[in-house]
Amino acid sequence: MRKFLLFLCMLFALFGNAFAQKQYDTELVVVGSGVAGLTAAAYASDQGVKTILLEKLPNVGGQLIIIEGTFAVGTKTQRQDMVGLTKDEAFNQIMDYSGWRANAAYNKKYVDNSASTLEWLQKKGVEMEGVTTDTPDGNRVYHMYKSGFPGKNYIDSMMKVIKENNNIVLTETPAKSLITDKKGNVTGVIAENADGEEIRVNAKAVLLATGSFVNNAEILQKYNPELVKGIKHISPLKNMGDGIVMGQKIGADVANMNTMIFESAVPVNMDYHEIHDNPARLDAYMILKTPSIWLNKNGKRFVNEALSGDYTVVSNSLVANGSELVVIMDEEIRKDIMFGAGSHANYFTLYDRGQLVKHFDEAVQDGMKKGYAFKANSIEELAKKMNMDVAIVKASVERYNKLAEKGEDVDFGKDVEQLKPITHAPYYGFIGMNTICDAAGGLKIDENAQVINTEGYNIPGLYAAGATTGGMYGTNYPYIMPGYASGSAMNAGRFAVEHVMKTILHRQVKSF
Ligand SMILES: Cc1cc2nc3c(=O)[nH]c(=O)nc-3n(C[C@H](O)[C@H](O)[C@H](O)COP(=O)(O)OP(=O)(O)OC[C@H]3O[C@@H](n4cnc5c(N)ncnc54)[C@H](O)[C@@H]3O)c2cc1C
Repeated sequence: MRKFLLFLCMLFALFGNAFAQKQYDTELVVVGSGVAGLTAAAYASDQGVKTILLEKLPNVGGQLIIIEGTFAVGTKTQRQDMVGLTKDEAFNQIMDYSGWRANAAYNKKYVDNSASTLEWLQKKGVEMEGVTTDTPDGNRVYHMYKSGFPGKNYIDSMMKVIKENNNIVLTETPAKSLITDKKGNVTGVIAENADGEEIRVNAKAVLLATGSFVNNAEILQKYNPELVKGIKHISPLKNMGDGIVMGQKIGADVANMNTMIFESAVPVNMDYHEIHDNPARLDAYMILKTPSIWLNKNGKRFVNEALSGDYTVVSNSLVANGSELVVIMDEEIRKDIMFGAGSHANYFTLYDRGQLVKHFDEAVQDGMKKGYAFKANSIEELAKKMNMDVAIVKASVERYNKLAEKGEDVDFGKDVEQLKPITHAPYYGFIGMNTICDAAGGLKIDENAQVINTEGYNIPGLYAAGATTGGMYGTNYPYIMPGYASGSAMNAGRFAVEHVMKTILHRQVKSF
């Protein structure tokens, strides 16, 4: 008997925590506290919905630390700035960009509510300043955060609403699985806290907002084998697609798992986030968008470089061409983008409200040390330094110069304005790598952010928002609508809360 008791004590010491369980009962449990989850939890709190927010990391906020602007149409700011784009025009542009592959009902609702969602955020203390675009063909729908990034101001504003309404936020408490009843309704989640204790949250509805699967090698390999080979991503978080996996386990469908939100090319051997506090590296990133001659790693031209502003076009063409981008320019183009003299000073090289590429020379010096920039007195020497096939690079540049002389790009149809010969030494070469901003696929949702199962029906009680979802915009991220991703994350969360209130809690949504 004594031995048996001792054995029980040992078992408890070893596995005690695993058997322990804390239980909560609530109306809504939100999983993940990024743009989607934190905003939804605050909105639900403001609407009087009893809410619990679970976060895997020690801090809330997810990627709110790095986004810069958010999409909306019909805001006061736009009216003040005489931006004439109407909601119907924006909706039709999103649909046309996707060839009507995007979810029309979702996008109509998103566009129509985008202004009021942003104005609700501002009412709650989120500080915004101005509206712009961040792509050459983009609309002025990109509402900028006052402090550059929403970060602390946004997080504090949302947390204040949650706390004022006495709702609960549990950090270091990742959700592990969904709870369902016999009828298949989702009725809560099982999570685990930092002490290894199981946390059971019973709820009337669950909103999954755990971000994308961009760090999950297994999912990437399954849906994007060609991307796994040569691409980097710039998400600062370690999101593994937990919400997608949990949803799929109970029959949820997924969409666009092989679609990525691309970031175009980022210098090799450089972390994207270094652009934020290193002007030479910011300029190196911008230089890679100069529409001079672009070659693939084999030394061959492969694209109309004037399309450099469309990240999807750049990245798609890089996927088809070995992932690396080599941009070559001469002294004339250097002057052009440093001093704004001519055609190559485009939107990207004239970034940041008219600032030119002031740190070109520092970028070359830095890049020579880090292996992303090269300088030489001839094209042959440059190709050699870049470890490329000298004859092929030389032939490509000579061909390009001939086309420039003739004033017609019969190879790739580039506008003659952007067709400048590469003839004045010294010559510069920059090497970039195709880069993902985030994965675009995830759980399929409808216009109420309710998750759809593999048979096409809603899963009662289950909602998803933000990068956990997929299929809203078809296969190309709509760069013509800058800030679409974070705007969609916020609005889908709001739609989920309102649908839960109307159909599960049978309460009226308060206007604001
Ligand atoms: C460098 C960069 C710049 C960008 N700039 C912009 C921009 O200017 N405008 C724009 O619209 N979009 C931008 N994006 C895209 C944007 O960041 C995303 O679309 C958006 O952040 C997605 O929000 P989310 O809430 O879905 O996910 P996230 O912000 O990634 O949040 C997910 C949260 O869920 C947590 N989590 C994960 N698993 C679990 C679990 N099992 N249990 C509990 N919590 C969990 C994570 O820790 C995280 O806090 C940018 C992306 C990058 C990488």
